[in-house]
Amino acid sequence: MKIQEADAKSLLVAQGLPVPPWEEAHTAAEAREAAKRFFADGAEQVVIKAQVLVGGRGKAGGVKLAGFAAQTELVAQSILDLEIKGIPVRKVLVGPAADIVKEFYLSAVLDRAARRILLMGSAEGGVEIEQVAAERPDAIVTIHADPLIGLQAFQAREMAFRLGLGAHLKDAVAIATGLVRTMLAYDADLVEINPLAIVNVSSDDGPVTQRLQCLDAKITLDDSALHRHPELEQLRDPDEEDPADREAREAGLTFIKLDGTIGCMVNGAGLAMTTMDLVKRAGGEPANFLDIGGGARADKVAAAMRLILADPKVNAILVNIFGGITRGDEVARGLIEARAQQERDVPMVVRIVGTNAAEAAVLLEQAQFVTAATLDEAAAQAVAASKSAVA
Ligand code: GDP
Ligand code: MN
Repeated sequence: MKIQEADAKSLLVAQGLPVPPWEEAHTAAEAREAAKRFFADGAEQVVIKAQVLVGGRGKAGGVKLAGFAAQTELVAQSILDLEIKGIPVRKVLVGPAADIVKEFYLSAVLDRAARRILLMGSAEGGVEIEQVAAERPDAIVTIHADPLIGLQAFQAREMAFRLGLGAHLKDAVAIATGLVRTMLAYDADLVEINPLAIVNVSSDDGPVTQRLQCLDAKITLDDSALHRHPELEQLRDPDEEDPADREAREAGLTFIKLDGTIGCMVNGAGLAMTTMDLVKRAGGEPANFLDIGGGARADKVAAAMRLILADPKVNAILVNIFGGITRGDEVARGLIEARAQQERDVPMVVRIVGTNAAEAAVLLEQAQFVTAATLDEAAAQAVAASKSAVA
């Protein structure tokens, strides 16, 4: 689950990382009011940033500065009018603009192959890190942190020195260890600060000093660990979740959309993969991976059918159920119910074996469904139906 910059920053703040203050605004007028408060606090400029779950907002015109409240309103409106990579901007973040001296990149990611957390840093921050990685891989410093003890101080110091942050050692060490701590505290897959910046900070009485601050934050949480952090569920942005993903999650289905034309409804991940393999071997392309899980009842089957049919490319459906805990007759009832409700008629081949397969067969026959006894046969029929739909 990806979370918005403002929410990611809240998590960083909770872990003690230095982040400039901010407010969220849903309208240009709200942005103006927020800006007034920051100007009253002494800000010379404010930064206004689109809150959308995509990178490269800066390049797309989603990050801008303003020098006074009325200008903030205009700029905020122009950003709220944007669509960035197809996503409409519904809110912005407003905060005092940082006076940036130099931008760095720092992130912690899960390195599954190494079974460790990988801390990555670069003195070439601000720009897209993928570009740096492709063009100058030596400009990226990598250090692995132990998953049990986290990043150790000497490792954080090494990162700091290699990035040329020796003059900011204390800040850099706190931030690097804080990133890994954030990763562990929330079971994140990714915690990325780009830019981590040296900024000029002026206080009322003293001279201008330079500090390190996290100016951007991107956090991806591990969906499989979310149950350990129920309070983070509220950070899910319903506006930005793919509608199909949401329906699948709410119905308790595992659904992954693919590019083919044959919708597959299967119970069990292994059987789903086998089914996809056999569809391919029969010359077809699966439109999805869909595991309706164990003990799927009629309503779940109907939800799965809606998801499959919502994909306009689907022109044939293959249902492959192995009844164990799942009862075949229950699935058959679900299919009959789903067909009665569905808006689009697509040829469907059903194979149900295992628990209550005989009862299922009777129900399906009465309802005039096309059935198949073996999986090879079912796959061949579904592929043939898909091909004749195109012809
Ligand atoms: P992204 O493009 O989606 O990654 O958005 P960022 O928050 O990283 O902003 C993009 C760029 O805008 C940064 O690399 C900075 O150069 C600039 N920027 C962001 N925040 C500030 C700020 O407070 N002050 C100034 N002067 N520039 C900023
Ligand atoms: Mn950024």
